[in-house]
Amino acid sequence: MADKYGIKATLDRLGIKEINSGATTGTVWFETTGKVIESFAPADGELIGKVQEASKEDYNKIMETAKEAFKVWREVPAPKRGEIVRQMGLELRKYKEDLGRLVSYEMGKIYQEGLGEVQEMIDIADFAVGQSRQLYGFTMQSEREKHRMFDHYEPLGIVGVISAFNFPVAVWAWNTMLALIAGDTVVWKPSSKTTLCAVATHNIMANVLKANNLPEGIINLVIAGSKVLGDDFLDDKRMPLISVTGSTAIGRRVASRVGQRLGRTILELGGNNAIIVSKEADLDMALRAIVFGSVGTAGQRCTSTRRLIVQEDIYDSLVQRLVKAYESVAQKIGHSLNPDTLVGPLIDKGSVEAYSWAIGEAQKEGGKVLFGNKVLSGEGFETGTYVVPTIVEAENHYNIVQEETFAPILYIMKYKTIEDAIELHNNVPQGLSSAIFSRNMLETELFISGSGSDCGIANVNIGTSGAEIGGAFGGEKDTGGGRESGSDSWKIYMRRQTTTINFGTSLPLAQGLKFDF
Ligand code: NAD
Repeated sequence: MADKYGIKATLDRLGIKEINSGATTGTVWFETTGKVIESFAPADGELIGKVQEASKEDYNKIMETAKEAFKVWREVPAPKRGEIVRQMGLELRKYKEDLGRLVSYEMGKIYQEGLGEVQEMIDIADFAVGQSRQLYGFTMQSEREKHRMFDHYEPLGIVGVISAFNFPVAVWAWNTMLALIAGDTVVWKPSSKTTLCAVATHNIMANVLKANNLPEGIINLVIAGSKVLGDDFLDDKRMPLISVTGSTAIGRRVASRVGQRLGRTILELGGNNAIIVSKEADLDMALRAIVFGSVGTAGQRCTSTRRLIVQEDIYDSLVQRLVKAYESVAQKIGHSLNPDTLVGPLIDKGSVEAYSWAIGEAQKEGGKVLFGNKVLSGEGFETGTYVVPTIVEAENHYNIVQEETFAPILYIMKYKTIEDAIELHNNVPQGLSSAIFSRNMLETELFISGSGSDCGIANVNIGTSGAEIGGAFGGEKDTGGGRESGSDSWKIYMRRQTTTINFGTSLPLAQGLKFDF
């Protein structure tokens, strides 16, 4: 392996071997016997390592261990569970550069974004530590004399986490840190495109489990293709909650299978995020946000900016500036670990095909390519995974504009009035992230009002991409309605119980009911 970026040493420090087990209950790795999957770097096509998938038997062993561990873990007081999470955050700090580098290499996002992803893990760990002392319920006034009523939150059980390739480690942390303080155990089924990131994360976490002599089964990893472990995972009643991050198509499947057994889901699905740029916007700020949102992570964020809705008076000048910015970004397409790179590769050739196909569809529907539409080849681009970020002048009703294409394609369109802009904005199936750039308070307030953006995230003078962990993260409509990370998202990882205590000496019935015998 060419090792210009110090990958070998990183893999060693992260405990990644040539062939890695795809199943662990925390510190014990199974001798797996399933299919061997190879992980290639999208940036240079090098083989990074292999993972041997878990079998059905391995999975069952993991689930039974997680079930037993739950009985122990739920007895640990929440702030003490928080202390374990605190140590996990510290351990992640130690490995931030190495894990960030592996995320960048295996997934293809640039190193800065790999570091940012690990920072999100650390941030949610810190958040969860504080939250572990704040699992509040309400107290209510009873209608009966000498009665006390309150609700309280109790551990739920085993939480299944299915994660997408584009945030190979952060999504696990958003779910797991909260699930842990909630008293739950976790079984993680990562994307088969980023398995080594999952193995590395578990290796790091194992240090904390060992140092605290924790039982096996609190955090678990099972790597297996959907043939071995697809619907069976979803149908498994041992998991009262499954959190899935992925495309809307997969989310629908998860929701219907888990719904059949009346399990709970957190659905974090695709987006089709837009920025409205008013003629009263600070265009310098808007430009920065648009470019980062549309080309960052090579357009492979759920919150990537996919549509730009621009007031007609400033349309031409903004387009001009945007094309210029894209021209300079296009000079910085390259290896994800090269510090000069701003745009890395797409995850695989399938994504490149989707990119080219989508641009073709937009053109067929009448769209005009203003920049890009190019798959790069030649020196440094031999993998065929590099594309030039693209701007297409389009109309919102095009079928392709209504879809999420997981690639750097920005559809740009005009509006006259703010009401038109909001109408266009909301007229897509998805509802994840949204933004307006304007210094006019009447417009910005309208945008975040009940008649404004219909998304889970609505930003003012900030782009669509890159949320802080302190807020509840998720979206409406085809994005699935789930919320995770900050705010009161912790509640879904717990079961809520309402209790009434009678400290009197009679037994009055509610609603004044008489039942004398
Ligand atoms: P994907 O839908 O192809 O896969 C998501 C996960 O589902 C993977 O781990 C995959 O292995 C698993 N999976 C597939 N079939 C399954 C089955 N039958 N049973 C159980 N699991 C199954 O998505 P992807 O390509 O990895 O990620 C990109 C998508 O994820 C985009 O649509 C993006 O918008 C979305 N995403 C959403 C958020 C969010 O928070 N809303 C965050 C990141 C990514």
